Amino acid sequence: MRLNDMRSSSNVEDRRRSGGQKLALGGGLGGIVIALIAVFVFKVDPNQLSSLTGGGAGGETRELTAEEEALGEMVTKILGGTEDVWKTLYPLAAASPKFRGAPRTYEEPVLVMFSGSVQSACGMAGAASGPFYCPGDHKVYIDLSFYDELKKQFQAPGDFAQAYVIAHEVGHHVQNLLGLSDYVHKERQRLSDEEYNRLSVRLELQADYFAGVWANRAQKQFSFLERGDVEEALTAAGAIGDDNIQKKMQGTVRPESFTHGTSEQRVRWFTLGLKSGDPLAYDPFQSRYEDL
Ligand SMILES: [Zn+2]
Repeated sequence: MRLNDMRSSSNVEDRRRSGGQKLALGGGLGGIVIALIAVFVFKVDPNQLSSLTGGGAGGETRELTAEEEALGEMVTKILGGTEDVWKTLYPLAAASPKFRGAPRTYEEPVLVMFSGSVQSACGMAGAASGPFYCPGDHKVYIDLSFYDELKKQFQAPGDFAQAYVIAHEVGHHVQNLLGLSDYVHKERQRLSDEEYNRLSVRLELQADYFAGVWANRAQKQFSFLERGDVEEALTAAGAIGDDNIQKKMQGTVRPESFTHGTSEQRVRWFTLGLKSGDPLAYDPFQSRYEDL
């Protein structure tokens, strides 16, 4: 990626220097949270996050490494790139009769970078939660050590793979503005677990789709992609499919428990967005589940 033309966002809270508070036992994210991947990826019970967070309880602070500084700058620019694209694109989507009641102008989300653990309107989260979006406070949360995980555990390195992660979470923010997060949340009460999982898959695939749409528009605006970048994002999208993760972590695959879609589906929806550049051209909520 070449980010020279991208503007740094001013909507970033960098909380990495404070080591993070200890999670209360039994704490962890509750309620509605929209994560990049299912939590079990990290082989951690979310109820035991407390044991992972360690230090920082006494308000200690630390210095960032040069690598961390650079990563933070990259993420800040990517967020700026999402703001510039969605500012134009969001009103077009919000004008659709499908999204009656949605605000007509784009409200920018805040991105919180943290180390160890973080307090959000969705509860306390640790690095083990993976990147997530909290609809309650319109913030994207990421512990950038996730990028190491992506590189080492998922063999999905590269800066555009990292950008895809941010674009996916911002996609959840767009869904929240459009009223889709609320819709899915409300449906939860009347659906069986299996039915709800299927709805969650649609939501996640649309976030991947929106990430692809963003990449298409950002390329037109900033011409930032370099050779191999698209492959990086496809590798990442493929690596974090539910089937791949379950195979890796549990040795077996249980399709009824999928919440994010298979590797193939995630790659497919990101690619559809990337090719179309149109937030309304394809809609996973309108497809037959078998055709997703
Ligand atoms: Zn997600």
